[in-house]
Amino acid sequence: MLHGTAGATEFAKKLGLATKNDKIAVDENMKTNIKGIFACGDCTGGLMQISKSVYEGTKAGLSVIEYLRWDKKDCPKKSHNERKMNNGSY
Ligand SMILES: Cc1cc2nc3c(=O)[nH]c(=O)nc-3n(C[C@H](O)[C@H](O)[C@H](O)COP(=O)(O)OP(=O)(O)OC[C@H]3O[C@@H](n4cnc5c(N)ncnc54)[C@H](O)[C@@H]3O)c2cc1C
Repeated sequence: MLHGTAGATEFAKKLGLATKNDKIAVDENMKTNIKGIFACGDCTGGLMQISKSVYEGTKAGLSVIEYLRWDKKDCPKKSHNERKMNNGSY
């Protein structure tokens, strides 16, 4: 998981991560364009506020759990929210 500001964009570019407006591009679940790499906080752009970083950090953490539990086992690719709606739990 990429976190923070210092040199994050340059590091991201070296890894081949997509950027937008010189920030790391992520989807709504904090996934980058490279499977298994997530980003949150100031490095993803938008409001540079603690509350935004904590919110995104939580989402990224849930995405990491999903990735480790599901994606690596080739289980059906359901998002955290889809599973939550279907059975009320992880
Ligand atoms: C002076 C100032 C005042 C602010 N005041 C407020 C405020 O009142 N309220 C508010 O909501 N926000 C405020 N902010 C913004 C807030 O601090 C940031 O939005 C928030 O800290 C971002 O969190 P982050 O985890 O994304 O990044 P950061 O807090 O920057 O954390 C990134 C961490 O990664 C570490 N790191 C970076 N590169 C590497 C590396 N290569 N290897 C290992 N570690 C690395 C850094 O040392 C750092 O500890 C302020 C910011 C500044 C600069």
